[in-house]
Amino acid sequence: MRLLLVEDEAELAALLLAGLRNAGFVVDGVATIADADAATRAGAYDVVVLDRRLPDGDGMDFLRQLRRNNDGTPVLMLTARDAVEDRIDGLQVGADDYVLKPFHMAELVARLWTILRRPSAIRDPILANGDVALDLATRIVTVADHPLTISRREGALLELFLRKLGRVITKPSIESALYGFGEELESNAVEVLVHRLRRRLNTSGASPQIQTLRGIGYLMEPVR
Ligand code: CA
Repeated sequence: MRLLLVEDEAELAALLLAGLRNAGFVVDGVATIADADAATRAGAYDVVVLDRRLPDGDGMDFLRQLRRNNDGTPVLMLTARDAVEDRIDGLQVGADDYVLKPFHMAELVARLWTILRRPSAIRDPILANGDVALDLATRIVTVADHPLTISRREGALLELFLRKLGRVITKPSIESALYGFGEELESNAVEVLVHRLRRRLNTSGASPQIQTLRGIGYLMEPVR
């Protein structure tokens, strides 16, 4: 799940980035409306967490602009506790939910999953191929109904393969899907990650295989 965080208070943004990544989201963080605009144009996000008071304007204006552009990406607004009218305005403009500052990380994550479980936001809560299944809400992976221990990032890579069965996935597209744009990346990071996921699937006896197409990318064929 790709998440865009728009928050200008550095300390809070850092806490949110860590907490949301820990909860399994792939997070890009920006601090201004201008950067949020550029980020949403460049990449598809599953959900946006949006602060209201930003250095270059009101988060609500950004939300209004998103909706005007037919961008239905779910948006959760962060709202100051004293600004009751703000939340009402936000929901009218097209926010999917709001959280009052200060809030607990667990509450924010729970609200996000509630938004993402709504039928409009998610196509299928469980992605599967052959005997491998990934529950998008709990991030639990099973092979023939047995839970598979898997890292957060391996799970994100598996999700990518399951969403693109039978299609070639290039290394750059894996990088942009799995790593935030501020993250330092070793040149062989994708190869290493694919290798680890492949080994986990193979040793658990899973039916789907990850193929390497040298110089092109990777592929998981649908299992009938
Ligand atoms: Ca702010």
